[in-house]
Amino acid sequence: MLAKGEGAYVWDADGKRYLDLLGGIAVNVLGHAHPALVEAVTAQLTTLGHISNFFTSAPQVELAERLVALTGHDGRVFLSNSGTEANEAALKITRRTGRTHLVATEGAFHGRTMGALALTAKAAYREPFEPLPGEVTFVPYDDAEALAAAVTDRTAAVVIEPMQGEAGVNVPSGDYLAAARRITTEHGALLWLDEIQTGIGRAGRWFAHQHPTLAPEGVVPDLITLAKGLGGGVPIGATLALGAAATLLEPGNHGTTFGGNPMASAAGLAVLETIEKEGLLARAEEAGDRLRAGLAKDARVTETRGLGLLIGLDLSAERSAEVASAALEAGYIVNNPTPSRIRLAPPLVLTDAQIDQFVADWPAILDAAGVEA
Ligand SMILES: *Cc1c(COP(=O)(O)O)cnc(C)c1O
Repeated sequence: MLAKGEGAYVWDADGKRYLDLLGGIAVNVLGHAHPALVEAVTAQLTTLGHISNFFTSAPQVELAERLVALTGHDGRVFLSNSGTEANEAALKITRRTGRTHLVATEGAFHGRTMGALALTAKAAYREPFEPLPGEVTFVPYDDAEALAAAVTDRTAAVVIEPMQGEAGVNVPSGDYLAAARRITTEHGALLWLDEIQTGIGRAGRWFAHQHPTLAPEGVVPDLITLAKGLGGGVPIGATLALGAAATLLEPGNHGTTFGGNPMASAAGLAVLETIEKEGLLARAEEAGDRLRAGLAKDARVTETRGLGLLIGLDLSAERSAEVASAALEAGYIVNNPTPSRIRLAPPLVLTDAQIDQFVADWPAILDAAGVEA
């Protein structure tokens, strides 16, 4: 049970301090209790916290405009309260193409509500709730040929995470997103990038698909979904539709009582402004490189994955659960998405001193977990 937080640290109910290297699952980009977020939300609540979707507010409009501007293209935004809801809105947009077939990838995680779950690959999440809506073809991730074979003129959309997060941080080859763009365009299907985990600075860019490693020539999706990092801990989701895709959803097609309320929108604006002001895009990249390089010095890390501060570590043994427990014991929060992988998604405000301390303690954590070379 956690009781308080500050920056990249949290304290449990017994007063023990932990370095939070998971950041509430890639959510707390500004760390805990960042004054800019506290002030923005507090100020908003003292004037107008919630108004329903019968009205709009300046923070809501401003946040939507800023998100669209960050894509570098024209578009529209639907604000909601979570990642899975951002994906539900995107899924409804794909239905407005008049087509129903969707293509998703093996290992994908898109959320737990019924529509998003239909696009999520993991059998343990899906099977207890089948039948799920829609007609979905799953193809291997980072396999352009399989994608080309699965997409037809009946396909409404292809949904891809620019890096797979829950699967343990899988980074596709540099031509994958471009191939997905080409294939979807050829068949008149939408390209939908789920940036819920990878967006908002996590990968060292506003959106991971803007990183040259993932798209050297650039790629322009039709739909982008966001959530996790966007509110810095305040629940918010966003569905961005660019170009012609922006007019598919019409007024009355979709709605939400809480979504885009002034308080959550003010949180989103504070996150974007603080990332800019504190130079956190560059910092994410620099800190991520330092962490990866430091942790990989131990030979029991057989591969490092990810971009910026979304990091996967392959271990030499299937002991990731033991590593996560040993880390917790040593005062570090890390995550074990697969039996042999550790995931880190720390706040972007993580300092070099904090990184160096973790790197120094890392071999002893692997020892305590019984990881052998
Ligand atoms: C976390 C996540 C979701 C679901 O977000 P929730 O806020 O938990 O509903 C969807 N897609 C990706 C890529 C995610 O990482």
